[in-house]
Amino acid sequence: MKENAFEALTVETLPERLGNIPEIAGRLGGAPAGWKVREVGDGNLNLVFIVEGGSETLIIKQALPYVRLVGDSWPLPLKRSFFEYHALTRQEERAPGTVPAVHYFDETQALIAMEFLSPHIILRRALIEGQELPKIGRDLGLFMARTLFRGSDLSMKAADRKADLALFADNIDLCDITENLVFSDPYFEAPMNRHTPGLDALVKELRSDRDLKVEAQRMKHLFVSKAETMVHGDLHSGSVMVTPDDTRIIDPEFAFYGPMAFDVGMLIANYWMAYFSQRGHEENGSRASMRAYLLRVIEETWSTFRDEFAHLWRTERSGILYQAALYEDQDDGLASEQALNHVIHDLWTDMLGFAGIEMHRRILGLAHNADFEDIADESLRASCEAPALKFGRHIVVNRNKIQSLAELDRLAEALD
Ligand code: ADP
Ligand code: MG
Ligand code: MG
Ligand code: MG
Repeated sequence: MKENAFEALTVETLPERLGNIPEIAGRLGGAPAGWKVREVGDGNLNLVFIVEGGSETLIIKQALPYVRLVGDSWPLPLKRSFFEYHALTRQEERAPGTVPAVHYFDETQALIAMEFLSPHIILRRALIEGQELPKIGRDLGLFMARTLFRGSDLSMKAADRKADLALFADNIDLCDITENLVFSDPYFEAPMNRHTPGLDALVKELRSDRDLKVEAQRMKHLFVSKAETMVHGDLHSGSVMVTPDDTRIIDPEFAFYGPMAFDVGMLIANYWMAYFSQRGHEENGSRASMRAYLLRVIEETWSTFRDEFAHLWRTERSGILYQAALYEDQDDGLASEQALNHVIHDLWTDMLGFAGIEMHRRILGLAHNADFEDIADESLRASCEAPALKFGRHIVVNRNKIQSLAELDRLAEALD
């Protein structure tokens, strides 16, 4: 298949086309004609198939030369599959066991064969259903600290980091999606925007909010210029698959060298949105316990991230920054701790800025969240989205003055 020009797979052609690839056919087992193939419908950009063979089941993910949800009127390069493959291999090295195992990659066909996660479900779905998963705060805090620290100049050899910087710098089109859809479109009447009808007055207010529009562009400035580490780039609750005892991160096709705090802010924003959406999901009883759980998850995600980052700082700081020669080696461990405090402070502040923007773009932009979208009653939905928009505005504009998550818990409770 490698020699041929790109051709999209279908449920019907998949067995014949992949049946002679040993890395795939050998694992699946049985005659290709007997494989059971289903297409998963819930992704936005790509084709994803579940293929059940005689012995194993695999996921086959294939990019299309356009956005799957929209069609060929929105072209998008196949190369996103290349970035996803390279991001998955680096994440596996830096945080072993946190991403699906990759078994095969074909660049021409933009195809990745990977481990089928089962009985995992998408985290966003679990949170909408009201499941209180015990491990996500810790697992995702560790995943972010390890991948973000170990992909940076705090850890990598300069030549390796620069080679990766160059490799991922070509992920232009997916970065362009984020640059426009996340950082700009929500703040003006961009053609692809939409919002729930009851929000008109608030949306007008936000789009004429000078401080907000200035701070949003300052965050965009950081996003495009702070090439600090390999970020996942799309780390929302739809890119995490869970069971009560396992947490896996999927779909890193947006990976590039960007600011560490981007992943952290996007993930935590998705917990805050889950929080503000809970009132819309109370048809079978109160979600008070779920709301309290989500605030605990946010606290645990951030504190795990911060503590693991500090641990890696103290034990693995082998890159070109803040060298031990200047600090510990001169018996000045306090200098290293002082520098660490500055780095963590910046991560905290930037995390808040990115989080607030993610909350805005999911309510005002093109790509909305099922957390809110699944609330059928539009006026109930708007009454959940409005506090989320106000909360987002507060944390973007005031991020330099916010001292703790406890302070934000009180704000969330007051607004909700
Ligand atoms: P897209 O880039 O189009 O968003 P995703 O990688 O998010 O595609 O995959 C779309 C859906 O396919 C996921 O929401 C999930 O339901 C399913 N899926 C993807 N990868 C796996 C996997 N490794 N194991 C099980 N299901 C998966
Ligand atoms: Mg996805
Ligand atoms: Mg991943
Ligand atoms: Mg994707």
